[in-house]
Amino acid sequence: MKEIVIATKNKGKIAEIKLALKNLPIKVYGLDEFDNVPDAIEDGRSFTENAMIKAKSYADYLNKACLADDSGLEVYNLNGEPGIFSARYAGENATDADNNQHLLKRLETLKITDTTCCFRCVLAFVDNETSITTEGICEGVILAEGRGDGGFGYDPLFFLPQYKKTMAELTPLEKNKISHRGIAIDKMTDKLTEYLK
Ligand code: IMP
Repeated sequence: MKEIVIATKNKGKIAEIKLALKNLPIKVYGLDEFDNVPDAIEDGRSFTENAMIKAKSYADYLNKACLADDSGLEVYNLNGEPGIFSARYAGENATDADNNQHLLKRLETLKITDTTCCFRCVLAFVDNETSITTEGICEGVILAEGRGDGGFGYDPLFFLPQYKKTMAELTPLEKNKISHRGIAIDKMTDKLTEYLK
């Protein structure tokens, strides 16, 4: 059976991707199941570049097929901030709570009331024969205060008008059905099913 490593140390991402891939005939590992794996250097200028850097560097290091995720939030009236800097918007080693506070402060300081935004996710699969990328986006608006305790990252602030809920108020299965990551995974599953035939 083909083995794939979810090439991220983010537990939220690992859980969502493992759940979404559970029907594929592959054995899925998280990077957390391997000891002392050095961090990939994410110095790309786009989600796609960073996803490829991560998939390639972990695939080379582990000598296994790797699936990497690079994702983040883009607020249209902030020129796409925080974008590829989503994980460290409030600085290196920032927590999710720090990043959420920083985002709210920035919106308040700049008096931005239209907080329409999207989550974007690029997945990159790399093994010793091929590389495949897919992308998904999901639109919403940023609330002035967080709601819900599911998910991770900016989920409590990310409101979906059509569901009248934040991402953090959805169950993991509901989130995967509509999220940027769920959409990118569906596209990746189709391509991997074809590739693994
Ligand atoms: P990366 O690990 O460099 O791709 O950074 C991803 C960051 O984007 C996370 O730390 C979150 O801040 C944000 N992010 C990505 N996907 C999600 C999501 O599904 N919900 C909430 N925040 C997300």
